[in-house]
Amino acid sequence: MGPTNEEKSPWVEGIIHDFWDKSPENDLHMGHREKAWDAPLVGFARGDDPFFARFKADLGPFYWTPEEIFNATFPDRRASANELSVICYVLPQTEATRVEQRREDRLPAERWSRSRGYGEKFNCALRLHLAAELARAGYPAVAPERDPEFAYRQSERFGLASNWSERHTAFVAGLGTFGLSDGLITERGKAVRIGSVVARLDLPATTRPYGDDYQAWCLWHARGTCGACAERCPVDSISKEDGHDKERCRVYIRDVTTPYVTEQFGTADATPCGLCQVRIPCESGIPAALK
Ligand code: SF4
Ligand code: SF4
Repeated sequence: MGPTNEEKSPWVEGIIHDFWDKSPENDLHMGHREKAWDAPLVGFARGDDPFFARFKADLGPFYWTPEEIFNATFPDRRASANELSVICYVLPQTEATRVEQRREDRLPAERWSRSRGYGEKFNCALRLHLAAELARAGYPAVAPERDPEFAYRQSERFGLASNWSERHTAFVAGLGTFGLSDGLITERGKAVRIGSVVARLDLPATTRPYGDDYQAWCLWHARGTCGACAERCPVDSISKEDGHDKERCRVYIRDVTTPYVTEQFGTADATPCGLCQVRIPCESGIPAALK
């Protein structure tokens, strides 16, 4: 028998937490058992939250709303937006990973590189596990980022953009707001990875502590101070005037950091950098001055 209405939110959180705790895939493969991630944060958004349609209008027609990706996946079990929930989770980097990465100025540290490779593989497994467990209990579910059609397209206004954004979804689900570097600042900071699943399931939306202010937890956007992430970038991909230069960042990762970590740590599928995510006021929490 499935969970009652009151039990649904903790039941879903339990699926995510158990997999984080027990899956052997949550491992940095350092030669000893070491979790890739700290305990997840979880939030829920309603499938008909108006922000999803706003993102599509802003980014371009290629961007999926929850209703579109759900109905494309389940054409015989179509649902309207108000019958859907979006489950989102944040996986924070561990302190050991952040401490190591803080020492670096030009190239990512070993643990950070491993979390981008092995840790992201775990994230992919978690997305699929969550969707499968929900389906097993009678709630059809899809992990948009794992869909074969998931891809990056050219947005007229925003350059290269994917047709489903985990960060934007996490914002809607009350988990964080955007920083100067485009990263999402969560209650566990910006050194995180994110995943999400769309399900035909009635869950109460998580209250957004920041309302609709999508930049509330960034010192630069809220107060005009800081800019530490811009100073951390070795190739000036972040500026106070123009924000994040995605193309410059992408080229550095493709040409410099990826070949380096492949050679140095054997993390063949990892594409890390993330120097702008540590040694900054929003590394592991909301900046103290904004709390
Ligand atoms: S380091 Fe400062 S400017 Fe950059 S995202 Fe964090 S709070 Fe904003
Ligand atoms: S991830 Fe991109 S923006 Fe951040 S430090 Fe590296 S190159 Fe710069």
